[in-house]
Amino acid sequence: MLPLPLQGVVDFIGLRWRFKHLRGERLRRYQLKAVSRMVNLATARSPFYRELYAARDPSDFRELPTINKAVMMKAFNRLNTAGLKIDEAMAFALAAERDKQYLGYFRDRYVVGLSSGTSGARGLYLTDSAISRRLPFAFLARSGMPWRLLPYRIAFFLRVFNQGFADINGLLISLRYLPTMLPVEEAIERVNAMRANVLMGPPSLLRLLARQRSRIRAPIGIIVSYAEVLDEHERAMLEHVFGVRVVEIYQASEGLIACPCRAGRLHINEDLMYVELLDEKGRELAMPGVPCRRMIVTNLYNELQPLIRYELNDLVELGPPCECGSGFRVIAKVIGRDDDILCFERQDGSPGQVFPDVMSRWIITATEGIEEYMVEQAGPGQLVLWLQLEAAVDAALVTRRVVESVRSGLAEHGLAAASIETRIGPIERGAGKYKRFRRAFALPA
Ligand SMILES: [Zn+2]
Repeated sequence: MLPLPLQGVVDFIGLRWRFKHLRGERLRRYQLKAVSRMVNLATARSPFYRELYAARDPSDFRELPTINKAVMMKAFNRLNTAGLKIDEAMAFALAAERDKQYLGYFRDRYVVGLSSGTSGARGLYLTDSAISRRLPFAFLARSGMPWRLLPYRIAFFLRVFNQGFADINGLLISLRYLPTMLPVEEAIERVNAMRANVLMGPPSLLRLLARQRSRIRAPIGIIVSYAEVLDEHERAMLEHVFGVRVVEIYQASEGLIACPCRAGRLHINEDLMYVELLDEKGRELAMPGVPCRRMIVTNLYNELQPLIRYELNDLVELGPPCECGSGFRVIAKVIGRDDDILCFERQDGSPGQVFPDVMSRWIITATEGIEEYMVEQAGPGQLVLWLQLEAAVDAALVTRRVVESVRSGLAEHGLAAASIETRIGPIERGAGKYKRFRRAFALPA
């Protein structure tokens, strides 16, 4: 193991080189090697994979069974390679939520991420700090940010912080966490005070900042969008209002799936994630402009919690090869969630917005036993929560905990809901764009 700065430089050079030069047969060979290394490692160190692949030929990768979040969570203790227990890791994550103390490693070594991602159930993700500390170099190599902005001063709008993000801070990057729930005025003050030259946030938040463009004095040089789908129309609007390029990063809890190039297109990180895009007949989808039916990913760098042939709920559409010359596939469109911002009332009757990821946090940290959920608002302050529960859970108890958690979350921000209704039952997820959060009225200006 090399000392960190040296390892970082090696990583950086490798990441740049592979992005430019790996293509076609050479790229396939690289991936095959990386994939079989991960399969061998998992079979050796993870009791779950050893059993799962027992009667299989591990060299026939495409024939290995797929898993998903539910399987991963159920097998958590036997799947991770460090013998970590789900109860302890979950308790650590929930305590961080409760105390709003997001920094710190689990057992002094591991980054724990709690997320609902694009499926409703909660997932617990582990990264070794030995890997998370190497992230700044990956970030420098793959963020598509121009060198002229170095050192990057990043205003990073995020629902909650995490030690993994703090690990991105380094010599050339200073990253300041700003909670998405911050009132817009205060958010702008902080962006100005740190003279941010990179603005990073979900599109729903960038939209709010765009309305106040004239008050932002920080020398913004680039905008990075993540966590929600950014459509073309919105990108054009943000680029027009801010007068800078807007790029996207496609980061899932399961790994860093795609990053922008200098031309602003989103490329799959083919050397970090092995991404299988399948059509309706289960064949590899290569044609641009057609959405895939299944997306199966294999993380090639997380040895602590190996995710091999793990099916995501996102669907993507490929684009034509990019003018930048990289052989890494281009994602034209992520057809993921298309959630609405929710709206409640403050005590003085003024409207207060709640971002979908914040509401999602209140729901998934309330209790276990939720398989999927959906949130609807017919009017400000009216909330209907649809819950699909695991069999054998106490529906009344789960419902009560969720409602309590949502009420106290709202109260913390000085907001209230006039009515919260809950409906228990199966939630169907249709094809195409998926909305977990729906608001049936216009947001007050
Ligand atoms: Zn490109």
